[in-house]
Amino acid sequence: MTQLAEPRSGASVAATTAVERVSHWIGGRRVAGTSRRFGPVYDPATGAVAREVDFASVEEVDAAVAAAVAAFPGWRATSISRRTEIMFRIRNLVDGHRRELAAHLTAEHGKVPSDALGEIARGIENLEFATGIPQHLKGGFTEQASTGVDVYQIRQPLGVVAGITPFNFPAMVPMWMFATAIASGNAFILKPSEKDPSASLLLAELLKEAGVPAGIFSVVQGDKVAVDRLLAHPDIAALSFVGSTPVARYIYETGTRNGKRVQALGGAKNHMIVLPDADIEMAADAAISAGFGSAGERCMAIATIVAVGDVADPLVEAIKARLPKVKVGPGSDPDSEMGPLITRQHRDKVASYLDSGSAQGATVVADGREHPLHRGSDGFFLGVSLIDHVTPEMDAYKDEIFGPVLTVVRVKTYEQAVQLVNDNPYGNGTAIFTRDGGAARQFQFDVNAGMVGINVPIPVPVAYYSFGGWKSSLFGDLHMYGPEGIQFYTRAKIVTSRWPDPGTSKIDLGFPRTR
Ligand code: NAD
Repeated sequence: MTQLAEPRSGASVAATTAVERVSHWIGGRRVAGTSRRFGPVYDPATGAVAREVDFASVEEVDAAVAAAVAAFPGWRATSISRRTEIMFRIRNLVDGHRRELAAHLTAEHGKVPSDALGEIARGIENLEFATGIPQHLKGGFTEQASTGVDVYQIRQPLGVVAGITPFNFPAMVPMWMFATAIASGNAFILKPSEKDPSASLLLAELLKEAGVPAGIFSVVQGDKVAVDRLLAHPDIAALSFVGSTPVARYIYETGTRNGKRVQALGGAKNHMIVLPDADIEMAADAAISAGFGSAGERCMAIATIVAVGDVADPLVEAIKARLPKVKVGPGSDPDSEMGPLITRQHRDKVASYLDSGSAQGATVVADGREHPLHRGSDGFFLGVSLIDHVTPEMDAYKDEIFGPVLTVVRVKTYEQAVQLVNDNPYGNGTAIFTRDGGAARQFQFDVNAGMVGINVPIPVPVAYYSFGGWKSSLFGDLHMYGPEGIQFYTRAKIVTSRWPDPGTSKIDLGFPRTR
């Protein structure tokens, strides 16, 4: 869970006026914060405070909600054709500003440019899906459900909806949410992560340029104060959340208690099962890519490799041989493949699993603290790490580490491997590596996880399917984006209609019949 930045008092404002302030977007424009509460935004590659971000007060959240409430009726009444045109413009503007957006991600999250551009590309796919909104909002029509009676379904927007997003995808996860929310006719309020807030404001500007009316897309920066107000505000109809499991559970319980529709996606511990017949070189490449991409700070990152039978020794050797080739460095260096972690505190927590793993009996094959940038830089760097002979009782297995530490659990059989995944409290993604189609098919049948890869280590669904895990990785009924996103942000209305026919009109106090 985020350790929220210690808000500094207004007294320190004068001392830090040189630092750029990231503020809110309310009523179609940037609005400076007035709460006198704010937090630091670091450049993780240097460790320096690069900006400061305002933390919204209850009144500021209320102002965003009021703007959204005022704008909603007009947007809802805007023709689907016009909304579609605007969605196309948003898609093209985000596409045209990929590099600018990616630069914000590298500067505040630390991910290297290729990874940042990949995040944006997957977000754009959600915008492209939303350009198909006329098709997605088509309801059903039943002619002659009863004599002279037709029945049809229409889907209508909910009203004002909010999205609370994590630090690890500051552009893509907001796009997961607002693409379908806005296209469906809702007004959307984003509460981005306070750790990397700048992308949200560039997105707001692009949406405005695309023709999204003032109040239909707003941004309130901040911490728990803003989130709690969104959870309590009577005019918020629904909340989408992506973040850690404890906060997801809190958002789901509080939001639903307050009568809101909630989808809350939580943390993960993704297992990659490698069967003895797998292509070991391919599995090792996949483990490195999925374990260390984005410094392991992906909810779909592979955290645990489950080596089945005698594949373990050659697999660990193949992974170990690849570790020195992973180039760790700042996003400003074009050779860097893996950047720093989000904060010093998080980096140190991730590194602590190397000590606990070793103390609890695991074998540290590679220790990321030996990377020269770990101690030789003020940035939040940690090299790639590999821990073998991990068992389910160890902290390195039980916790979501969310960093560049791959763990290996050795099991004897396929059944033990599946049991391990199914016993784990998380159920986001999982993958199996095998050449046996029958084994892969059995795995997709057996495994309790929401997203399954077959020789694909990061099975993030394409935008026209929906994204979501099982168990403690998702609280709520509907997954995010795609068809379930449309369902989440709309509600069905069923109309039963008969046109007047005086010849058949009579009084009948019986229950309406269809035959
Ligand atoms: P986080 O839960 O700490 O924060 C997420 C959001 O909640 C932020 O906007 C934050 O400001 C807010 N928040 C934090 N603490 C809060 C509190 N006590 N009350 C109210 N709001 C609070 O998550 P994070 O560290 O930003 O992101 C990393 C986590 O997100 C990991 O656990 C990762 O697995 C998860 N994640 C999950 C998915 C998914 O699709 N399941 C995707 C991305 C990230």
